[in-house]
Amino acid sequence: MVMDNLGSKLRQTLSNITRSIFIDKKLINELVKDIQRALLSADVNVKLVFELTEKIKERALEEKESKGIDKKTHIINIVYEELVNLLGKEEKGIKVERKKPFKIMMVGLFGSGKTTSIVKLAKYYNKRGYKVAALGLDVHRPAASDQLKQLCDSIKIDCFIDKKEKDPLQIWKIYEKEYKDYDVLIIDTAGRAALSEDLLEEIRILYDKIKPDENLLVMSADIGQAAQKQAEAFNKNANVSGVIVTKMDGTAKAGGSLSACNAVKAPIKFLGVGEKVDDLELYNPEGFVSRLLGMGDLKALLEKAKDVITEEEAKDISEKFVKGEFNLIDLYHQMEAMNKMGPLGKVMEMIPGLGSLEMPKDLLKVQEGKLKKWKYVIDSCRKEELENPDLIERSRIERIAKGSGTTSKEVRELLKQYRLGKKVMKTVGGKAMKTKDINKLVKQFKGKMPKGLGI
Ligand code: GDP
Ligand code: MG
Repeated sequence: MVMDNLGSKLRQTLSNITRSIFIDKKLINELVKDIQRALLSADVNVKLVFELTEKIKERALEEKESKGIDKKTHIINIVYEELVNLLGKEEKGIKVERKKPFKIMMVGLFGSGKTTSIVKLAKYYNKRGYKVAALGLDVHRPAASDQLKQLCDSIKIDCFIDKKEKDPLQIWKIYEKEYKDYDVLIIDTAGRAALSEDLLEEIRILYDKIKPDENLLVMSADIGQAAQKQAEAFNKNANVSGVIVTKMDGTAKAGGSLSACNAVKAPIKFLGVGEKVDDLELYNPEGFVSRLLGMGDLKALLEKAKDVITEEEAKDISEKFVKGEFNLIDLYHQMEAMNKMGPLGKVMEMIPGLGSLEMPKDLLKVQEGKLKKWKYVIDSCRKEELENPDLIERSRIERIAKGSGTTSKEVRELLKQYRLGKKVMKTVGGKAMKTKDINKLVKQFKGKMPKGLGI
C-alpha cells in the first residue's frame, strides 16, 4: 500500500493509545515521540515534524474532549486532524474554467513522471467530457516528443509536437491558432537530471509567455529531503500552483515530497500510483490520512468505482466483503468488478477496517479469457451446486465441463479460486467486527471525518 511503513507505524502508535488504561502525560509524551520517529523515518521535513508534534502534544494535554467522546477517541481525533493539516487540509483538485483552452503546464526534473502524468491527466479530463490536447515542448531529449505522441495516440488524444524545432517557444507559436478548439491544453516541458540555471530559465520564459492557468510541479515520491529545495526553486521561477506526486505505488518513503508542498504552500492535486494511464488519484488529504491510519477511504473507492460500476454496486461489493457472504455467483461478480477496478489489494485498503489486512497477491484478479470460461462453467451448474459448491465432486465436474464446453481442469480451477476466496472471506468476516467499532468511532467524530466514512 501507499506508504505502508509509515501507515503501520502510525497504526501501531494509535493502538497503544487504544489499549492503554490511563491516559496521562507520560503516555502522551510517548505518543508524540512515536509519531516523530514514524514521520522522520518517512522523510518528512524535520521542522514540520516538530511543529506538528508540538501541536498534538499541546492539544492532547490542554483541550477538553467534547461531550460523549472519551479521552482516547479525542486524542486519536487530534492526531488525525493534525496529520490532515500537515498533508494539505482539504481536497483542492483543479477547477477547469471554460476558456478554451484552459492551460495546464507541467514542470519537474527529468524522470519525475511529467509525460506519464500528462497522459493520465488528459484521460482523466477527457473521461469527464472535456476536449483535451497535449503539447510537447521537451526539445532536449530526442525521444521525448515521440513518447508523448505514442501515449496520446494510445488514448486517442490530439497531440502537437515538432521534432525539428529546437526552441520550445517557437513550437508554442506554431500551433497557437489550434488551441482554441480545445477545453484543456496540457503542456509538457523539458527536465534536467538536476536543478540547473538553464532549466529554470527555460521554464521561466515559457511560463511568462504561455501564462498557464495551472503550473503543476511533478515530483517523484522517492526524492526525500531534496524535494523542498526543488519545490522552492521551481516556485521562485514559475509560480507553482499545485503538485503531482508520482510513484506513490513504490516503496518510497514519500514524506519529503508530501511535506515539501506544505513548505511552498502549493497543494498536492493528484497522486501517481502506477505506470498505467488510469493510475492517477485525485488527492484528498482526509482520505489519505484515513487510509494511513487504517480507517479506509470509501470516497476514493467510490470515485474509482464510478468509472466501471454504479455507486450502488460498489457499496454492495464492499458490504458483501465485510459481511463475508459468499457463493459461486458472488465470486464471479466480484471477480468481474474487481478486474475492472484494479488490483484487489488497492481496493481493500480503501474499505474501512480492512486497510491493514494482508491479502494474497492478486487473489481475485484473473485474466479476462479465464473469466469468460468460468462464466460458462457457472451457467452449467445446478442451483444447489451454485449455493453449495462443496457438492461438486468428480462426476459432477465432468458433467459441468462437458455442458459448458470447458475442461475438468478449468472447472477445478474455479473451485480452487472459490475455496481460496472463502478462506479470505472468513478472515475478512473476523475483521468486520473491527469495522463496526471503527464506524462507531467515526460517528462520534460527527462530521469531522471524511464524509464517505460516516456510514
Ligand atoms: P519525465 O521525464 O518527467 O517526463 O518522466 P516520464 O513520464 O517519462 O516517467 C519516467 C518513468 O517513471 C517512466 O518509466 C514511467 O513509467 C515512470 N512513472 C511515472 N509515473 C509513475 C507512477 O506513478 N508510478 C510508477 N511506478 N512509475 C511511474
Ligand atoms: Mg518527459
